[in-house]
Amino acid sequence: MVHFPLFYFSNNLFDLSPTSFVELLAITFSFGFAIVGISIGITKIIKKPTNPIFIIVNIFLFFSYGIFFESLSKNVIEINHFYIIPIFFAVFFIFLKYAPKFSIKLAKVVFTILFVFIIIDVITLFSEYEFNNNEKYWAQSNDTNIFNLEGLPNIIFIIPDEYPSKSWLLEHVNYDNSMFLKKLEMMGFDIGDTHSNYMMTNHSISSTFNMNYVVHTDQNFEYTNQISQSTFLKLLRQNGYELIQINGAGNEYLENFDINLCSPNKIWTHEEFYKQTIIFPIVEKLVLDNKVDNRMCFFNELLKIENLENKKRFVYAHILMPHSPYYTEDENGNLIDLKRDNDGIELLGNNIDIINDKLINMMPEIIENNPNTIIIIMSDHGYRSDFNVTSKQMFENLFVVYLPEDYELEEIKSNVNIFRSIIRNVDKNMQLLNDEFFLSCFGEIIKIPEDKEYRIECWAP
Ligand SMILES: [Zn+2]
Repeated sequence: MVHFPLFYFSNNLFDLSPTSFVELLAITFSFGFAIVGISIGITKIIKKPTNPIFIIVNIFLFFSYGIFFESLSKNVIEINHFYIIPIFFAVFFIFLKYAPKFSIKLAKVVFTILFVFIIIDVITLFSEYEFNNNEKYWAQSNDTNIFNLEGLPNIIFIIPDEYPSKSWLLEHVNYDNSMFLKKLEMMGFDIGDTHSNYMMTNHSISSTFNMNYVVHTDQNFEYTNQISQSTFLKLLRQNGYELIQINGAGNEYLENFDINLCSPNKIWTHEEFYKQTIIFPIVEKLVLDNKVDNRMCFFNELLKIENLENKKRFVYAHILMPHSPYYTEDENGNLIDLKRDNDGIELLGNNIDIINDKLINMMPEIIENNPNTIIIIMSDHGYRSDFNVTSKQMFENLFVVYLPEDYELEEIKSNVNIFRSIIRNVDKNMQLLNDEFFLSCFGEIIKIPEDKEYRIECWAP
């Protein structure tokens, strides 16, 4: 059973931290023991002697399904679970009936094979794994405890993932977004002209919350942790702020938050791992449905946010939109998954229509129910899922801000400075950083020289 999380881990080095690995081990062993139990149960029911070969085959059938499915779907067109599940069941029944009798010799062969599997996994894993955990993630020290946030208002921070700038939309997809911005302006929003500093969600949002540049990451860099433990949120906690997350981005749960709304059951955070097992079709169904529910939950909870008692409060609302998957709306405003993720750029306008429409409809109520509150709508990066887009265009994002009376923001040019600029309203010791831009390539973070532009294949200048 150890083989399966190791096998998965060695293929996903950049995605997993040691904690996730331990969780995967626990999940694998739970499944494993359940399979052993069920296998023994079945042989008891049909009154056959318990056969270890049958049990081991069942474990392999269960955990290897996704690998067979994926390699077949790469080579065969139009493959689906409907054809493969019966094959797996056929193998199951053959072994149930004809599993070879267990002998010492057979046991030796089986355990040698298992042992070889694990040795190969361990070697792959260790040869690629970076152990350099103490490497610095940040360009400068994150110690900002000297700042006094007294007098800072409440903040609602909305991140529509991958929302591009007005000029980018007009130029690349011929989408005119001026009405949306005009309506926000009429409600009292200022329209900013900013760029994101990163092309990846995890680097960008971590950087914004830490008011600092991420210059290196490794497998221990989990962005939900980087947000939870970020400098800005630490300052807010020290100043008695209540922290609320409204999660519209799938698998995001934030420690240290007082309230996590629309967060998933912890079990779904290992979606990719389940996809290797025979429960893949069930997970696929559940998680797909889950996405629509999650996005709807996000909009519902955002509309419900109110702070009429004017408690000190920070609301973080990240939604994976207009980022894929793409949706359409029914007449009641419910989302329907179009299941056409590969059409990308053609459907971008669809998702922007939906999110614009919902935000414009909700905003008057949100403003009214949250007095003395800064409302920021800022995307983590621009559109980047197109190989023709250059680095500078990927950073063209959306930034609009609603400020209560007596507050102002300086002419900030990039995401890294947004909270610095807000803090400068109450403490001028906070300095703005120079605007710098970074590409993220296969786990490496590369600073873009000022005079250079890169295509998205970032290894080729
Ligand atoms: Zn993003």
